[in-house]
Amino acid sequence: MIVLGIETSCDETAAAVVTDAREIRADVVLSQLDDHTPYGGVVPEIAARAHLEHLDGLIRRAMAEAGVGFGDLDAIAATGGPGLIGGVIVGVMTAKAIAAARGLPFIAVNHLEGHALTARLTNDVAFPYLLLLASGGHCQLLVVEGVGRYRRLGTTIDDAVGEAFDKTAKLLGLGYPGGPLVEQAAARATNPGRFALPRPLVGRPGCDFSFSGLKTAVRRHVEELGAPLSDADRDDLAAAFQSTVAEVMADRCARAIARFKADHPQGGALVVAGGVAANKTLRARLQILADREGLPFVAPPLRLCTDNAAMIAWAGIERFRLGESDPLTFAPRPRWPLDPTAAPVIGRAG
Ligand code: ATP
Ligand code: MG
Ligand code: FE
Repeated sequence: MIVLGIETSCDETAAAVVTDAREIRADVVLSQLDDHTPYGGVVPEIAARAHLEHLDGLIRRAMAEAGVGFGDLDAIAATGGPGLIGGVIVGVMTAKAIAAARGLPFIAVNHLEGHALTARLTNDVAFPYLLLLASGGHCQLLVVEGVGRYRRLGTTIDDAVGEAFDKTAKLLGLGYPGGPLVEQAAARATNPGRFALPRPLVGRPGCDFSFSGLKTAVRRHVEELGAPLSDADRDDLAAAFQSTVAEVMADRCARAIARFKADHPQGGALVVAGGVAANKTLRARLQILADREGLPFVAPPLRLCTDNAAMIAWAGIERFRLGESDPLTFAPRPRWPLDPTAAPVIGRAG
């Protein structure tokens, strides 16, 4: 089975060709970073126009790299949400047009399900598993019971963790997107233990997250140190922020593992996904936790943590081989929680 995947939900335009034998035949990602950098964040209107301009060419490139024509495809999968509506429309309409023209099945993939199932593309991971979804718009702990079957154990009560990285990067004068820049600055720190930051919700019951207090603490330090921040101050603060986030995540994951084990004594795995899962300090911290808890730890390769279309093609394959596809009347969903019982969160996608 060969599936073309399309991803356009944020500021990466991406196309990929993946097989059900878990072979990534092509995986092309075009970052719109330069288009958005002057504004310090993603501008939805600019993103939608850029997707429109580049998507056709990227699909052609992915197909050429994979050595396949439309006639070789079994289905077309595109991100159907959640995300910026203009971009999602571009991807969904393109996929529908190809599907209609070539008589191919169309699969609308939940972007978060793409992140959630990536580990099954890159590693031998069976259901059920415990998932930490740590991305630009989300921070959730979920039990993945199967394709389309998610049970949420916890979520952030304020900022998503990627958002916290991005806002902290801004406070430190590091630019956008913040995650990789904070990680690089932290690696340069000469005194990483210099600042002690609060660790929101650590030690408390439950599996929820909170990051806004952490960000405020960074702001207070920046104000006390005074502008302009020296390189050493900036790097030490970045290191403090990063290690605190890793500690908070590990504490919340430990609680989720206890609940997961109680429900699934036969085993499972701790899986991490989403852009923040590319963070090496976080990965190392979660590996230690998983070792201690006797669970395998699975983290996809870095480039498949951040947004890409291979994960969309793969989630499409997972659904398609269960007999699922979507009608061409599918309407893009700017909000689309993974857990159907999840209460809608005001002001945030998904
Ligand atoms: P969502 O998947 O929730 O809809 P998104 O698609 O915008 O949001 P992703 O592409 O999955 O998010 O992740 C992007 C986020 O990951 C950004 O906030 C970015 O700063 C963060 N990120 C990327 N690399 C790293 C890293 N090495 N360390 C920490 N954070 C990182
Ligand atoms: Mg992005
Ligand atoms: Fe994402």
